[in-house]
Amino acid sequence: MLDKVVIANRGEIALRILRACKEMGIKTVAIHSQIDRDLMHVRLADESVCIGPNPSSESYLNVPAIISACEVTDAVAIHPGYGFLAENADFAEQVVKSGFKFIGPNPDVIRLMGDKVSAIDAMKKAGVPTVPGSDGPLTDDNDRTLTIAQNIGYPVIIKAAAGGGGRGMRVVNSEAALLNAIYVTQSEAKAAFGDDTVYLEKFLTNPRHVEIQVLADGQGNAIHLGDRDCSLQRRHQKVLEEAPAPGIPDDIRHDVAMSCVNACIEIGYSGAGTFEFLYEDGGFYFIEMNTRVQVEHPVTEMITGIDIVKEQLKIAAGEPLSIKQQDVTFKGHAFECRINAEDPKTFMPCPGKISHFHAPGGNGIRVDSHIYSGYSVPPNYDSLIAKIVSYGDTRENALARIRNALDETLIEGIRTNIPLQQELVRDPAFAEGGVNIHYLEKKLGL
Ligand code: ADP
Repeated sequence: MLDKVVIANRGEIALRILRACKEMGIKTVAIHSQIDRDLMHVRLADESVCIGPNPSSESYLNVPAIISACEVTDAVAIHPGYGFLAENADFAEQVVKSGFKFIGPNPDVIRLMGDKVSAIDAMKKAGVPTVPGSDGPLTDDNDRTLTIAQNIGYPVIIKAAAGGGGRGMRVVNSEAALLNAIYVTQSEAKAAFGDDTVYLEKFLTNPRHVEIQVLADGQGNAIHLGDRDCSLQRRHQKVLEEAPAPGIPDDIRHDVAMSCVNACIEIGYSGAGTFEFLYEDGGFYFIEMNTRVQVEHPVTEMITGIDIVKEQLKIAAGEPLSIKQQDVTFKGHAFECRINAEDPKTFMPCPGKISHFHAPGGNGIRVDSHIYSGYSVPPNYDSLIAKIVSYGDTRENALARIRNALDETLIEGIRTNIPLQQELVRDPAFAEGGVNIHYLEKKLGL
């Protein structure tokens, strides 16, 4: 097993990783910015190193400082969590070159999946269903582009190959607007990502967001842990997730999951990963792969009983997958509400001191959070402060439990989105199951 791991992240996921390491007897090093010295996992880690000032660019994105922290503490591996450097192939490469293990897939695979054009190409080859599109980048041959779009049928979406985080995309409804929109997207992509490669896809009008969790060991073994529905989003940010995705026929669910398992083997994937799809009218359409642990991984853990972070650590230590597909059983239903330090109406971030925190509890409730009474949420980072997760033997039961859990939670001193979450878990259409990705923004009147 790994001897000592550097946790190159902060907040709830850093604490989540620390807990998994402790359970497995792995020593931990917390690295943090100046303002983050009061984080819960920094207190609980075996060692901690301040790697720089508050801005992420000088701390959590500061590659030389992170590598030095590994060196001075004699750590053997780095867990990147999610966000920050988690999907940065150059960072992963630097980690490996410096003699440490990167807890994730190898840099080439991160690079392959980081470029949307090459990712889609690899998925098609592996038999994963993709969105009808331009089959590669657009060229400066405008006639060709217009023909491609006509064949796909409007509306189409222009996407930057290097895009991410909901940026670098533009929807076009008619031929007249296409070429200019491509030009604008290319310029934006060049400025934002240093790469003006764009491609076209059919724009699906009312899809759901459904994703498949996988684990692979890079030694020829891969399994899936089923699906999650993350359709409740605002500005492409997920707000509330559940597993399994409700109302999908079992054969369709099974086929897409197995295509992801196959893709993992084809691309030599190792570690935990997620294949994201849009789901519309009974069809799955691949949009991207996340080569890291995801915020919403707990809902999958609740219904499978498998600890995804512990599996990541075992895979990084070189162990072959110990779980076979036939050993994975799905039981019950789980929800996750993301609690953000933000105004529930305007969504403005709301950092500050938490004067009082009372966590919910009871049968089937899990809280992943780094906050405590007296903790100050800094203004410098993401506003996620807690994930409230519920499990139930049925969807109704899990929903009843998350309603209670939200009602029990007290976070005083700052504003949070708990009032919004309380409303969502009582929303009749959501309770019914299967709302699409536009539902939340429509409900909010956006
Ligand atoms: P990013 O890497 O920026 O997150 P994605 O490719 O994952 O980009 O797309 C982000 C979101 O944009 C999706 O969750 C979906 O809401 C929307 N989207 C992307 N592609 C399509 C499409 N072909 N049709 C409809 N919506 C899309």
